[in-house]
Amino acid sequence: MPPKDFLDTIRKGIDEVDEAITQLLEKRMDHVRDVAEYKKKTGMAILDSSRERQVLDRILSQVKNPEYRESIKSVYSGILEVSRQFQSRIISSAAGSGPARYGLVGEKLSHSLSHRIHSLFFKESGMNAEYDLIEVKPEKLPNLLDSLKSRGYLGVNVTIPYKKEILAYLDSLSDEALHIGAVNTVCLSGGYKGYNTDYHGFGMALEEYGVKTAGARCAVLGSGGAARAVVAYLEDHGASGITIVSRDPDSAIMKFPGLNCADISTFRAAGYDILINTTPVGMHPRISESPLQKEQITGVKFVMDLIYNPEKTVLLRYAEELCIPCANGIYMLVAQALRSEEIWQRRTLDKALINKAIEEIRRG
Ligand code: NAP
Repeated sequence: MPPKDFLDTIRKGIDEVDEAITQLLEKRMDHVRDVAEYKKKTGMAILDSSRERQVLDRILSQVKNPEYRESIKSVYSGILEVSRQFQSRIISSAAGSGPARYGLVGEKLSHSLSHRIHSLFFKESGMNAEYDLIEVKPEKLPNLLDSLKSRGYLGVNVTIPYKKEILAYLDSLSDEALHIGAVNTVCLSGGYKGYNTDYHGFGMALEEYGVKTAGARCAVLGSGGAARAVVAYLEDHGASGITIVSRDPDSAIMKFPGLNCADISTFRAAGYDILINTTPVGMHPRISESPLQKEQITGVKFVMDLIYNPEKTVLLRYAEELCIPCANGIYMLVAQALRSEEIWQRRTLDKALINKAIEEIRRG
């Protein structure tokens, strides 16, 4: 047979197989839709890792030619991922009418970056969803979650000054929120469950910068809400010692019983592995201030400032001048938002979205 005819014949065979696969995939998606409808009714999680493992194992055990195993595994991993995304879209679209609704609850929100970050995540994950900034007066808090749910909201973030106050209106808490005693993410489908994704965002940022917490000696500047999330993460991930550095060490000891507390005016970071600024000192518009003087941070191995506006605080400038590796809080901010999305959408999202969102924020 001439080479051209030979190729045409093979390609015709491939086309026939593709046709059969397309029909089968459509049939498969019909079943996936039925599963999504069931999960929507029952509130079951989208991701069922043990079921996915079973499916993959079964498929691979049926592959006769070992040379094709890895390729078929990749194809099926893709099919499982697409099925999860499809289920997520069905579950998060309120009865198929209009976009799914999420938002940020706080008192003053005009400077928040959350709308931009979440809108980008929705776009990238193909979701028909909206994220609103919901400014709330304290007296409206008691009925807020019921009111939001009745208006179709599926989840909200919570920020200053309601991260603790919101606890009174929740049905349950995740482990880290219980440890911290504050919530920044609430899932409204089913009972109201609170999470603290600052905890995860902080951990993901350290991972991104290659900073190990196991066995690390850590100093945390400030004793407020962000310090609680940071300390909980460090305690849960093997830090060998944590010192709270405060303007008022006596009251800091009451907030963090069992930890060392030091006075911020006399503190020296030499001998510590990680120094984390959780105070607002140096944040826009007071960008010429620093919680510590340059000589106070000599000798520490890594400095993280939770502030992200400005990108480089005076504290980070000092660290750079002393050749100490350092990072600001933007990765943590975007990572905590991604974690909130994962909780609401009940699926794992691509971590690459974090740097994508950071680039977009930098573009302005
Ligand atoms: P907060 O509850 O008000 O706590 C801040 C703490 O900083 C206070 O408890 C205080 O501790 C200390 N402090 C306040 N003013 C100070 C001053 N003039 N000098 C020295 N220390 C001072 O605030 P927060 O919610 O923890 O937030 C703190 C910062 O973290 C903010 O800049 C916020 O934007 C940032 N943050 C960033 C992320 C992120 O994702 N990147 C997440 C959460 C928070 P003492 O009284 O013990 O000194």
